[in-house]
Amino acid sequence: MKSHTKSTDLFRRGRAVLPDGVSSPMRSFSQVGGTPICAASAKGATITDVDGNVYIDFLNAFGALILGHAREEVVEAVARQASMGMVYGLSTALEYELAEKIVASTPSIEKIRFVCSGTEAVMTAARIARSHTGRSLLLKFGGAYHGHSDALLASPSNLGANGARTKGSTQGIAESLNREVLLCEYNDEEQLAALFSAHGDRIAAVLVEPFATNMGFVKPQPGFHRLIRELCDRHGALFIFDEVVTGFRFHFGGVCNSLGIDPDLVTFGKIIGGGAPIGAYAGKTQFMQHVAVGKKVFQSGTFAANPLTMAAGNAALDVLSRPGFYGELEEKGAWLEAAITSQFAARRIPYHVSRHGALAGVAFRDSREPMKSYRDVKTQDYEVFKKVHARMLERGFLMPPSLEEPIFISAAHSRDDLTSFADALAESIQLFTTGRTALGGRPATLS
Ligand SMILES: *Cc1c(COP(=O)(O)O)cnc(C)c1O
Repeated sequence: MKSHTKSTDLFRRGRAVLPDGVSSPMRSFSQVGGTPICAASAKGATITDVDGNVYIDFLNAFGALILGHAREEVVEAVARQASMGMVYGLSTALEYELAEKIVASTPSIEKIRFVCSGTEAVMTAARIARSHTGRSLLLKFGGAYHGHSDALLASPSNLGANGARTKGSTQGIAESLNREVLLCEYNDEEQLAALFSAHGDRIAAVLVEPFATNMGFVKPQPGFHRLIRELCDRHGALFIFDEVVTGFRFHFGGVCNSLGIDPDLVTFGKIIGGGAPIGAYAGKTQFMQHVAVGKKVFQSGTFAANPLTMAAGNAALDVLSRPGFYGELEEKGAWLEAAITSQFAARRIPYHVSRHGALAGVAFRDSREPMKSYRDVKTQDYEVFKKVHARMLERGFLMPPSLEEPIFISAAHSRDDLTSFADALAESIQLFTTGRTALGGRPATLS
């Protein structure tokens, strides 16, 4: 058994000064149980905890690290910049360079602004949409996560009316804001059309994750985004693509490029900071102009476009733009998918694996069908995942501590890493599901 005494001691100490001992909830492992681990260092595909245990990392900082940990080019760029000043309160050439790269990568966008988190990016994009349209309703999808701003965490007013469920909920948001959000089931075209019929002239924007990555991994059905685009056009609403996870993950630029969708505003985060805190909102000049000085929308930030992040982001994007980079990631994704699929077949595990590029998700339910909505996601066996997560840790694999996160592959993973992960995953699932019958028998208990 791996020892976790130092992590345990640190968390005991941490809990005295931080609620749950964490600064972001999932780090407490509250969704999987067991002892949360404290990180000590990381390099490439591996992360080492304070007890000296080494894990192959499939969390990758919730997808922020597509190059793996401490990639040389990024480390050097950050070190160089740190010695020249951490933050100036002034604009920099590095910021223009990163902006040029991102704008050039994605035809749908003409201008961009940098902030420090995905939360700020989506919050500001929604503010622009409300200002531009003079309307206040935001339409989002069940199982989506768009950061923790009040506007996007508000509990949709039509909850319960249509059976769709929101992800997470919180107190402390003005009741009036709850009436300004509508919820639709992901991939449910009929419900979407009905919501537009009923509220179309009051909808400021539709926000969507092009691939849903905050409820495991759920792909859009063919035509889903095109329908959103059409409805937004017909009713005068803006279409916001939240690409905080998908941006630069499958190819160089927003996934709107390969999906053939032309959103009005696009939000980025995670990958584009090279591992440093970042968010960005971007789009057509006519919308982005709202934040120009003296115009209608205000946004600022002491650390916005800070030089350390800009240095890291530029260095990372330079690596991503090398020929063959995404081809290799695609091969790794395909390799992992094939390995998991064949392991599941060999062990007669009736689970489905979904994958696009280097992003994957296993549906923990007895079905060969891919999940399409948050309703499907909630039919999974969360108890089996908890046990699997703990066993995978013991075997040296760090999975995201939630069934509602995808598996993140990075450029640092080797084929061996992927094969051994697939092997351990299938073995663990089999261990905790044998003895069950297809007719709904109870899961075997962990001894
Ligand atoms: C992570 C995430 C955000 C929020 O980004 P933070 O940097 O954590 O504030 C927004 N949207 C999506 C789709 C995300 O996955």
